[in-house]
Amino acid sequence: MTNKETILIVEDDFQIRNFISYSLKNEGYICKIVSTGSRAINTIANETVDLVILDLGLPDIDGIDVIRMLREWSDIPIIVVSARDQDREKAYALDLGADDYLTKPFSSTELLARIRVAMRHMKRRESVKKQSVIQVGGLSVDFEKRIVNLDGNEIHLTPMEYSLMSLLIKNRGKVVTTASVIKELWGPGYGQDTQALRTLMAGLRRKIETNPAKPRYIMTEIGVGYRMVEE
Ligand code: CA
Repeated sequence: MTNKETILIVEDDFQIRNFISYSLKNEGYICKIVSTGSRAINTIANETVDLVILDLGLPDIDGIDVIRMLREWSDIPIIVVSARDQDREKAYALDLGADDYLTKPFSSTELLARIRVAMRHMKRRESVKKQSVIQVGGLSVDFEKRIVNLDGNEIHLTPMEYSLMSLLIKNRGKVVTTASVIKELWGPGYGQDTQALRTLMAGLRRKIETNPAKPRYIMTEIGVGYRMVEE
């Protein structure tokens, strides 16, 4: 048991709360549990917490508002827990600064994997040194030279494909929402025009995926966005 991070569970459902805390304690994490949004904000403001698992449907404040309030003063990793039919809410939570989401019901393996990813991201954010090369499997991006390699061979991307690739690989392991990709690549005025992004994504996948219909690197998170695998 080498994990010593403290995780705050914000969940009003007794069974889910117990399931999460049992899974975490088994892995050596220290757990704190609250059932309302206001208690969550208080705890994060006044106690040591390294990561938050946040249910969106809370009895007092909406989970979405908890994220909005926290992000005004805190970088703490937030993993949102939501019901299956809440794609819009998931995307909204990510756009407001949540790090990831889990859809109920989820396994403890899935939960623990997402926690590890979010913790790694936090540590990466903390390390001031910027990586000039990022590698994921056989894919690597050299940001200084603007060179992308796949299995040892340089591949040629258009400037837009390169921007998309950079955004996804810098956020590897995490979901990047459709809205945030559009905003980053085309600017805030572009709205919700997802067709251009779909076309761009198809072009990028043809260059980096052996079988674009079964991608190895860039996964589609239906209704939410895209996730580059971590390794
Ligand atoms: Ca709830």
